Amino acid sequence: MTTDLDFLDLDRLLSEEERLIRDTTRGFVTDKVLPEIAGWFERGHFPRELAKELGELGLLGMHLEGYGCAGTNAVSYGLAALELEAGDSGVRSMVSVQGSLSMYSIHRFGSDEQRAEWLPRLAAGELVGCFGLTEPDAGSDPASMRTTARRDGPDWVLDGTKMWITNGNVADVATVWARTDEGIRGFLVPTGTPGFTARPVGRKLSLRASDTAELVLDGVRLPGTARLPGGNGLGAALKCLNEARFGIVFGALGAARECLETALEYAGTRTQFGRPLAGFQLTQRKLADMTLELGKGMLLALHLGRLKDAGTLTPEQVSVGKLNSTREALAIARECRTILGGSGITLDYPVLRHALNLETVLTYEGTAEMHTLVVGQALTGLAAFRG
Ligand SMILES: Cc1cc2nc3c(=O)[nH]c(=O)nc-3n(C[C@H](O)[C@H](O)[C@H](O)COP(=O)(O)OP(=O)(O)OC[C@H]3O[C@@H](n4cnc5c(N)ncnc54)[C@H](O)[C@@H]3O)c2cc1C
Repeated sequence: MTTDLDFLDLDRLLSEEERLIRDTTRGFVTDKVLPEIAGWFERGHFPRELAKELGELGLLGMHLEGYGCAGTNAVSYGLAALELEAGDSGVRSMVSVQGSLSMYSIHRFGSDEQRAEWLPRLAAGELVGCFGLTEPDAGSDPASMRTTARRDGPDWVLDGTKMWITNGNVADVATVWARTDEGIRGFLVPTGTPGFTARPVGRKLSLRASDTAELVLDGVRLPGTARLPGGNGLGAALKCLNEARFGIVFGALGAARECLETALEYAGTRTQFGRPLAGFQLTQRKLADMTLELGKGMLLALHLGRLKDAGTLTPEQVSVGKLNSTREALAIARECRTILGGSGITLDYPVLRHALNLETVLTYEGTAEMHTLVVGQALTGLAAFRG
């Protein structure tokens, strides 16, 4: 939380190191992201050049150990995600996909050779990674994927299409999940491999400062060593997603905080009927309700972060956090927009940009509906999402 909006004095729940990481990330966002973000969003520009600076700050794969990664605790990683997303969900998405999907998949499921080959340069931001699970006809139900990997002598040959892949057009390496005779397996695909093409997903109204691609794999031939040896079954892919979702639990609250700060400031200076908007009871109710939700969301995020650091965090608990943070952050962004009136619909203020971004954040890494049903299943023992 910023000091201004840290109504519940949650700052005292953080260690000195956690505060330092948060403040460093916030400084980076203030200097490098905020002055440019409206233009990037308007032009649909993905700032690839930020990768090296993010790497120099140690923010890429920051919760991983070794191979040039910072090895921070989970709470620090969450706080960094929050500060990045206070800048823009697109910037946080780049970092989440690089660290929690691409690098984590290699760190957790890769061979020693794969780790040594890819992780140091991904951590430094010299290379960019992406993660291809979703397909045009397999979103919430990734088990229905059609991408295949078949053995051909010592090689693997991959065919299929992946959709909505963050960082996909600029990536140097893609973690691709494909169906084999033995089940779903993960593969590392250098994006220069013949038969691999990436196409930008155009006409996006959300996450415009993020790169989103359709990946086509047309007879992509890889050596036997390209398979992630531990990447067996859909469960492995879902473990990676769980890491990224944890970052969203914190991250979405950063977008909400930025909106609330903006609305508070605006309401204090904009005058109608002879007094500031902040003086109207209806405005104060909105501000108070949003402050409550932001504070409750932060308490939940910090609690889940402490559970993760203690090694006991379950996927269902992450679902609770992802559902709460994204739902409340989106509600806060929309409410803040009303406080800004007409000005709220422009890029002069961050609120509608955040609201538009949060539509994606509500949907990717498991939709709000799917996380609701995960919690429902944990409560009842019945899986309502399966036919
Ligand atoms: C900008 C962006 C970036 C992304 N980045 C990546 C990435 O890097 N890598 C990657 O692999 N994927 C990525 N995704 C894909 C994302 O994870 C999927 O969009 C998401 O899983 C939902 O899939 P879908 O869009 O196919 O929607 P669908 O699965 O078709 O769902 C549509 C609606 O139906 C609901 N629904 C579906 N099934 C059920 C059910 N059983 N019960 C109740 N409701 C249900 C959903 O909740 C949703 O509301 C990204 C998406 C976006 C928009």
